[in-house]
Amino acid sequence: METITTFMRAFIAADHAARRAVYCAPSEEEFDEKVRALDAFLDEGQGAMEFPYAWDFVDPSDQSDGAATGRRMLAATRPRTLFLIRHYDHREFGALARCYVDSGMAWPGTRYMESLFVAATTEGPRIVAVWRVCVTCRGSGRLGDDACSTCGGTGWEPAGGATLGELGRITEVERFEAPTDPTSRADYEKD
Ligand SMILES: [Zn+2]
Repeated sequence: METITTFMRAFIAADHAARRAVYCAPSEEEFDEKVRALDAFLDEGQGAMEFPYAWDFVDPSDQSDGAATGRRMLAATRPRTLFLIRHYDHREFGALARCYVDSGMAWPGTRYMESLFVAATTEGPRIVAVWRVCVTCRGSGRLGDDACSTCGGTGWEPAGGATLGELGRITEVERFEAPTDPTSRADYEKD
């Protein structure tokens, strides 16, 4: 499954470059170029996929408070961590790789933020769907004694791309780096 790992490493580099470009690109044209480079990793035919970096370009001459805050946040961004990949045998996509990544913010500790689903297309591997950790239960699927009603107890919510339904049978699990957050870590270690 080397291909998927290589694809994800390239995606993570392009993702970091695009997030930095919001505040660091010298011109809007160069920002657009970075966003286009990132879009090339997505199978847009599956439906729009929203990422947190899909903000508008902020001109370097902008001295507003918002821009200043954004530039400070930028100092805290780093390439996203790839924790693990679970490979599934999906009824529609066939080999479907679920790649667990964090937000790419340099907070203390690491935790799941998104699952990026990668499948083979006629143009090579592409991200076909995105799930994001449920903000209500922070990925645990539980609220006290009850299942979280926001995510139906799964801990995840669809954030664009194909509707996947049941993911199918797991065919392989590749672990790269354990998250430090206990909820994420329990999932990381479960199989
Ligand atoms: Zn939830």
